[in-house]
Amino acid sequence: MSHGLVVVGGSYAAAQIAASAREQGYAEPIRIVSEEPRGPYQRPPLSKGYLAGKVLPAALPLRSEAFYRDSKVELILGARAESIDLSGRSVVLSDGRRLAFDRLALATGARPRPLPVPGGGLEGVLFLRSLADADALRTRLAEATDVVIVGAGFIGLEFASVAVAAGKKVTVVEMQDRVLARAVAPGLAAFIADVHRAKGLDIRLGATVKELRGNRRVESVICGDGTSIRADLVLLAIGVIPNVELAQAAGLACQDGIIVDRFATTSDPRIVSAGDCTRHPSAYADQPLRLESVQNALDQAKTAAATISGVAKPYDTVPWFWSDQYDLKLQMVGLAAGHDSAVTRGTPSDGRFSVFYYRRGSLIAIDSVNKPGEHMLGRKLLTARLSPTPEQAADSGFDLQGLMAKA
Ligand SMILES: Cc1cc2nc3c(=O)[nH]c(=O)nc-3n(C[C@H](O)[C@H](O)[C@H](O)COP(=O)(O)OP(=O)(O)OC[C@H]3O[C@@H](n4cnc5c(N)ncnc54)[C@H](O)[C@@H]3O)c2cc1C
Repeated sequence: MSHGLVVVGGSYAAAQIAASAREQGYAEPIRIVSEEPRGPYQRPPLSKGYLAGKVLPAALPLRSEAFYRDSKVELILGARAESIDLSGRSVVLSDGRRLAFDRLALATGARPRPLPVPGGGLEGVLFLRSLADADALRTRLAEATDVVIVGAGFIGLEFASVAVAAGKKVTVVEMQDRVLARAVAPGLAAFIADVHRAKGLDIRLGATVKELRGNRRVESVICGDGTSIRADLVLLAIGVIPNVELAQAAGLACQDGIIVDRFATTSDPRIVSAGDCTRHPSAYADQPLRLESVQNALDQAKTAAATISGVAKPYDTVPWFWSDQYDLKLQMVGLAAGHDSAVTRGTPSDGRFSVFYYRRGSLIAIDSVNKPGEHMLGRKLLTARLSPTPEQAADSGFDLQGLMAKA
């Protein structure tokens, strides 16, 4: 009897592995096991439109109920995969069930990184990863006056935009000397920080948090230099930790992520993995890397599904990401880390421009602000390995599209 495919995880990568496996002709049973009480749903709106009340719950599911029914994909919800029995080829669930498998896919994603300081457990100190987290945050935000966000990454700044727009007094405490330090270059980071400050956000750079104080409920955030900031709501947004424990306990190679090859195969050839939980090779980076993006989860899942279906489809998509803050649409393509020069196309004071990043004369990434056309073109240029010269990129009159046409 065929046991088919078991997918552990309940989000982008899990749903895409199931969908793409069916598209590739995989005909054996498919079961998705998720610890969450609902099927896969979109996370990006949780720090944007959903939090602001502009995206309704009905718009969040990634796939319809009809999809799971018609594709014969069984969803096992509210059950955590506790361990993998490799020799017995089964997964043991928190409710005691044992699911036998022929192929296993791990799409366990990531969880928020905790802040190891006193007071982290006080009421009003929250994280944002799941729909349940977003609901709790939304309720708290409605009642809050003074909001403190620890971490000026994408989630921190997106939440800041929503909280400022809701009329709250909002402070961001960031350890680095700029916002979005892991994601964008200093010039763009300064532009984004200025936009936030102009809206009224108090950004404290180079500042650490040493304690959260309060009597049952959080009342203040104490910084490393002793400064106290009033707070009745604190969002901890200092990054994520990949969920590797299940894989690690089963003996799979892990190193800040489940290690996979270009075909999304783990150190056990029967097991694939995709999404935020993996560390993978990339044609766009010198070292294997871990990406936290919808694009990565979906595209790597397609590769994982192909591998399960016996089709060799290496994962080599150019990485891209987006973020919405106020009326800024930020779109990033490629990996800017390690660039040795950058040029700007367009005028930052107009709020519409792109920054082109180069290494040894070759284009490696483009960050766009309210320039969706340039972002889309950038995806094509980087995928085709086409590089305008820095002079061409900086010249708004130069026809970048023409480069594609000539290629
Ligand atoms: C608020 C927010 C905003 C974001 N905005 C953007 C954005 O604008 N653009 C963008 O590209 N990306 C954004 N991201 C990141 C993006 O959502 C993630 O990269 C994506 O969700 C990764 O998908 P995944 O399937 O790999 O993992 P996850 O989404 O982390 O899902 C993993 C799932 O597996 C479940 N699970 C884990 N372990 C087990 C187990 N042992 N048993 C059963 N179930 C388990 C988890 O509960 C979870 O449901 C955002 C993320 C958040 C939280």
